[in-house]
Amino acid sequence: MADFGYTSIASNKTDLDSVSTALARAVSEAEPGFNLCISCGSCVATCSAGRFTRFGLRELIHRIKRGDERLMMAEASKCMLCGKCTLVCPRNINTRNIVLLVRKHAEIQGL
Ligand code: SF4
Ligand code: SF4
Repeated sequence: MADFGYTSIASNKTDLDSVSTALARAVSEAEPGFNLCISCGSCVATCSAGRFTRFGLRELIHRIKRGDERLMMAEASKCMLCGKCTLVCPRNINTRNIVLLVRKHAEIQGL
């Protein structure tokens, strides 16, 4: 096969029938704003924790919806709960509550 200097990237497809979305359902029931995120990234741009780690709320929300529950429950501990993301979110989402709910579920599961 000819070498064109690049390769196709691996599929990033998620089969939602084969992953758990229990955390996404629990968080959205307690905090309906969870479903309003438009992945704009404003929270990431202003995130205090993001200055020191790779933490980002946009990724947290997105990946919980895709079923990456255990990994994201661990990630939630990086949030410093400063509230800057709440101030800049164009959808007025209670972002800190989302982090707190994820942490609560991590605690319940002993993570
Ligand atoms: S600022 Fe709000 S709408 Fe934008 S990615 Fe963050 S949580 Fe979602
Ligand atoms: S509350 Fe957490 S997610 Fe929001 S800006 Fe502060 S450290 Fe980042």
